[in-house]
Amino acid sequence: MQPWTSTPVPRLPGQGAALRLHDTAAGQVRPTAPGPTARMYVCGITPYDATHLGHAATYLAFDLMHRYWRDAGHDVHYVQNVTDVDDPLLERARRDQDDWVVLGMRETALFREDMESLRVLPPRDFVGAVEAIGEIVEVVGKLLACGAAYRVDDPEHPDIYFDHRAAAHFGSESGYDEETMARLFAERGGDPQRLGKRHPLDPLMWRTAREGEPSWDCELGPGRPGWHVECCAIGLNRLGIGFDLQGGGSDLIFPHHEFSAAHAEALTGEHPMARHYVHTGMIGLNGEKMSKSKGNLVFVSRLRADQVDPMALRLALLSGHYRSDRSWHTATLDEAVTRLGRWRQAVALPAGAPARYVVCRLRARLADDLDTPGALAAVDAWATETLTGPGRDADAPALLSAAVDALLGIVL
Ligand code: ZN
Repeated sequence: MQPWTSTPVPRLPGQGAALRLHDTAAGQVRPTAPGPTARMYVCGITPYDATHLGHAATYLAFDLMHRYWRDAGHDVHYVQNVTDVDDPLLERARRDQDDWVVLGMRETALFREDMESLRVLPPRDFVGAVEAIGEIVEVVGKLLACGAAYRVDDPEHPDIYFDHRAAAHFGSESGYDEETMARLFAERGGDPQRLGKRHPLDPLMWRTAREGEPSWDCELGPGRPGWHVECCAIGLNRLGIGFDLQGGGSDLIFPHHEFSAAHAEALTGEHPMARHYVHTGMIGLNGEKMSKSKGNLVFVSRLRADQVDPMALRLALLSGHYRSDRSWHTATLDEAVTRLGRWRQAVALPAGAPARYVVCRLRARLADDLDTPGALAAVDAWATETLTGPGRDADAPALLSAAVDALLGIVL
């Protein structure tokens, strides 16, 4: 798929320390250590609905990691998938009597527009499940051949499942106990009751063709892929095993990332699939969980249509720490609009308070598990000093603008 258009990223003088991030598998914040090319995979959308604030907050957090690595001199190989064939998409298309392909294309196009307006740097590889069917079939075929995958004993629908016990490190990504895994598997699209599985937790890899559902002909028999194997195949084929970061919302910790990692381990004999598993918190609305079932989703495209400045939206979403579950209120956006106005006022002056130390402070706060509230406070302090004091440094406004653009993705 064609990713969205990139925006230029200014080069800043100097560079910061190694980026430290919370790794779910390790249960602690630890330094990342990419080579010359940092390899990062972030799970993409299932395009059955528009991008809501929770999605936006997630992609913004990973955009800041992307930007930090670039600022530190790394080339960043960023891969993102689009789950453009899966149950939620097919269900929505059926409900709305829409064509699932058209629905998927329409929502993916809207997602691209949203990302571009928020100035999220695009992935190098933006890959739809449909265009990766051949790769996925190959992975399933290999796991089937080595006994890590199996067909259920159902003559009508001999679907292929993964034997999760084939991966010695299964459980190490989430660290969840069996009871938690069983609960989340049932809650998040798993099918523990399916007859013929070796273990209730085993996830689907290949769903044989059903009446009224799309399917692809291949050596596995006509069918369509499961979700976890999609990310395993797309990630491994572009980044190789042991890439630097796999990311997504905290609802992907289990089962999605655990099973993708288990597939990769069974396939390659190597562990871990990603050296850091990074997860973002959930965004609620006025203290309530934001969800499609509650009908209280706030869409980025809706806010754009209401003439909200995407830079204010970006700033509002960065005002909370990426890992914390947080609530969106009208005031969150109002505060961001005020803050953005002050920053713009300060950089418009012919001179300001020295900005070099602010660049250091910005980098230091971001390197500390992406402390965006701290980073924003550093810019606030500079803006206050510049707006109230006698600005003497004529280079400061331009340097500050460049830093806010390069590191925070906000154009002033
Ligand atoms: Zn994924």
